[in-house]
Amino acid sequence: MAQCRAQAMLFLLPELPSPRVDALLAQARREGLIAHAARAQGGRWRLSLLGERSACAAFARTLAAEPLPCAEEDEFLPLASRALDPSDRAVDFDGVSIGDGAFAVVAGPCAIEGEEQLLAAARAVREAGAAALRGGAFKPRTSPYSFPGLGRAGLELLARARAATGLPTVTEVVDPADVDAVAQHASVLQVGARNMQNYRLLEAVGRAARPVLLKRGLGARLDELLHAAERVLAAGNPNVLLCERGVRSFETATRCTLDLGGVAWLKRRSRLPVLVDPSHAAGDRALVPPLALAAAACGADGLLVEVHPAPERARCDGEQSLACEDFARLMERLRAVLAALGRTLASAPPLPAAARSRV
Ligand code: PEP
Ligand code: MN
Repeated sequence: MAQCRAQAMLFLLPELPSPRVDALLAQARREGLIAHAARAQGGRWRLSLLGERSACAAFARTLAAEPLPCAEEDEFLPLASRALDPSDRAVDFDGVSIGDGAFAVVAGPCAIEGEEQLLAAARAVREAGAAALRGGAFKPRTSPYSFPGLGRAGLELLARARAATGLPTVTEVVDPADVDAVAQHASVLQVGARNMQNYRLLEAVGRAARPVLLKRGLGARLDELLHAAERVLAAGNPNVLLCERGVRSFETATRCTLDLGGVAWLKRRSRLPVLVDPSHAAGDRALVPPLALAAAACGADGLLVEVHPAPERARCDGEQSLACEDFARLMERLRAVLAALGRTLASAPPLPAAARSRV
């Protein structure tokens, strides 16, 4: 960044009427700066500027305010960062809120394999206390010969599972051309680890009217995750959930290394909710409960966890999927950990009337 001579600056401005702030933003933008403002306590404003060093300095002189200590110039994250707006940003979708203090569990199979499998998983996770259902219709597999998911047929099944159980749904999108179809069928668009820096995809989900669950890349630093989130926010979508799912490290005993220090760091640095995926981090169902409990203890906003009615027959990630009974036991232990922390589980929306006699 040094050679591009960009600079980020942050100011705390006095109480000002909104039109005055709009005029300041317009002036900054006319001078070629990227400028954002957010309300601070007591009617004050936080104003951030990014741009060519001398233009920033010239504009700063027109403001009767001292710059605040600011992020490094290559860490300009006005929409995701707490520096500009310190409040938490909860993400709401179809009757569930993530990031409002309650701990939200999103659970279900790695891949949607058929109606019976998906409904059995959905009913079991709902019964155990999950707030939302996960399930992949488009699977980005390492081998081109592995099960790639049911595609659009899987999306139909996901929509049916939601109608049957009332659980909002999270599913992955891998191609910008599928964003509209996925947004029509699911509550939340997941961008997987392999696509965290697929900028065309980030921009496409940034234009969608559904929240985005953005997973950390296998070799991505936390600041790169935040920049990827910023790209979605800058494209116009204010609803982004981050997900730590483990990274590649020298350690091979576990599938990945779960970075819980990173979760605590993300919670301090960014306003966005942070979920933890213990399943892909562990790669082994025996390790999922301890990682899930640790995630709750370290301040995550929820979990994304794989559950399958018959893990030994799963077409994808069976070894790391919890059986429904194991998931129910984990939820009991989670309730106890959360209670010790003064937190509760986020609840699912009410059961649809038609399902009340069934589930
Ligand atoms: C998934 O959640 O099913 C998945 C493929 O995860 P990741 O992108 O983290 O590997
Ligand atoms: Mn999986």
